[in-house]
Amino acid sequence: MTASEAAAQAGSNFVRDIIESDLAAGRIAGVVTRFPPEPNGYLHIGHAKSICLNFGLAQEFAGRCHLRFDDTNPTKEEQEYIDAIERDVRWLGFDWGKHLYHASDYFERLYEWAEHLIRAGKAYVDDCSAEEIRAMRGTLTEPGRDSPWRERSVAENLDLFRRMRGGEFANGARVLRAKIDMASGNINLRDPVLYRILHAAHPRTGSAWSIYPTYDFAHGQSDAIEGITHSICTLEFEDHRPLYDWLLDNLPVPSRPHQYEFARLNITYTVLSKRVLTELVRERHVKGWDDPRMPTIAGLRRRGVPAAAIRDFVRRVGVARANSIVDIAMFESAIRDELNRAAPRRMGVLRPLKLVIENYPEGAGETLEALNHPDDPAAGTRAIPFGRELYVERDDFMEHPPKKFYRLSPGREVRLRYAYFVTCREAVKNAAGEVVELRCSYDPATRGGNAPDGRKVQATLHWVSAAHSVPAEIRLYNQLFLRPDPGAAGDIMADLNPDSLEVLADSRLEPSLARAASGEAVQFERQGYFCPDTDSRPGRLVFNRTVGLRDSWAKAQAGGR
Ligand code: ATP
Ligand code: MG
Repeated sequence: MTASEAAAQAGSNFVRDIIESDLAAGRIAGVVTRFPPEPNGYLHIGHAKSICLNFGLAQEFAGRCHLRFDDTNPTKEEQEYIDAIERDVRWLGFDWGKHLYHASDYFERLYEWAEHLIRAGKAYVDDCSAEEIRAMRGTLTEPGRDSPWRERSVAENLDLFRRMRGGEFANGARVLRAKIDMASGNINLRDPVLYRILHAAHPRTGSAWSIYPTYDFAHGQSDAIEGITHSICTLEFEDHRPLYDWLLDNLPVPSRPHQYEFARLNITYTVLSKRVLTELVRERHVKGWDDPRMPTIAGLRRRGVPAAAIRDFVRRVGVARANSIVDIAMFESAIRDELNRAAPRRMGVLRPLKLVIENYPEGAGETLEALNHPDDPAAGTRAIPFGRELYVERDDFMEHPPKKFYRLSPGREVRLRYAYFVTCREAVKNAAGEVVELRCSYDPATRGGNAPDGRKVQATLHWVSAAHSVPAEIRLYNQLFLRPDPGAAGDIMADLNPDSLEVLADSRLEPSLARAASGEAVQFERQGYFCPDTDSRPGRLVFNRTVGLRDSWAKAQAGGR
């Protein structure tokens, strides 16, 4: 167990400690947090960390957590994203009740507060272009320079700002800036931009506004309006905290929230940046936001990852102040732990090879009983049909087996799970020399899979009845990126794994799977965890492999692949 896992197990994280001391000292009456996504893409597993943290702490302290859309940039935001975000947060198991808000709900109040700053001599309209403002901002080692428009009168600033609102000026012609300190050691305090002109329709406010507040001007004030006590965000906002505080200290806000920063989630072989994820979708490197290879909540759900596994993973990672990268194997192990507990066992043959039992009567058949979950008797049993013709896994046969290969080969006896012992007599080949069928015999005395004379076999194989099994397409997924640190060598798209998707078109599944519904996870014995894909239609089953039974990826990497 790593230190952060231990901390999570012990139930401690530094934000919780802060909340506890705020409550104990009577600084707050209750806990109010918020999750503030910008609706410019789908949520990913990094967002899940923030969701679990914000909603989790609110739950724990019997407070509340708001869902607030940070919808201040209408050029990038869409209703599709708003709908997807609500669906994903709910699916993760969290509920904002009636506390659904939008930064755009506060546009009028934010505007009034901007005028308040102008009247107090703490904001001014700047006619400089974005490039000029950037050029005068200075660097970490050099102070910035004052804008020539910095000393405008209050009256002139008010007049210009009102006309900006009125839509009189073109995009980018002017901005409203806070008047703080162009020599500040913190660049965020060098007269940050509070409003920009943007003639763009907004999903909620339509064409009512032609100016929009920046993130910095909207965020803390929205927190204050909603009575947020702990505004929890990722570390890259640490340098914005002095500005967050300055604005709250200089405005007549109804409450005084505080910002706390934690390390964002990073995972090996995975990209958690909405910009890059958007590019993957737009450039069709994946089939959509919910492609099962995507680290989005929608993609993970479609792949068959249970919400409980995501919550558990995030808990295992813990909440720290220092950035780090989590091994993808840790996520996969959380998925396996949850599915191992919850997923019923089934048999599915991914790459079928026909097996004919020559001494089994033609036209005969029988029904055998199989356990739904070996560790959970309460899960019961199911009936599986058996007959003379079966399918087994192609990989389970070798004509010339090396030492330690105990599965099928000519002359070798194995157990067919829940059925009989069978012995391979002959491998039938086609003209190309490929094995197309195994001729076998069975021992009728071994029904159920045990020999009355106590003889042992070294392998137990899964199988399906050829006549009763249902055909299915199976999609196997590998990491979307080849490097543990995608993009570290330059072009991130050059690191895409060309073999991230492998489609098996002719798999065969036991008949009980014909009615499986999407989202229902199963274990295919010896193969991994699978779930029906949303592409499934009656008569055309499609299954996704959620995760294998063991960490084959790490092994392949260690093997110098
Ligand atoms: P991206 O950098 O991918 O565009 P973002 O931070 O801009 O993401 P938002 O919609 O603004 O996306 O994020 C909503 C909340 O989720 C923010 O509070 C942000 O700090 C948090 N968040 C985003 N990415 C991560 C991550 N990888 N780990 C933890 N929290 C995250
Ligand atoms: Mg953001």
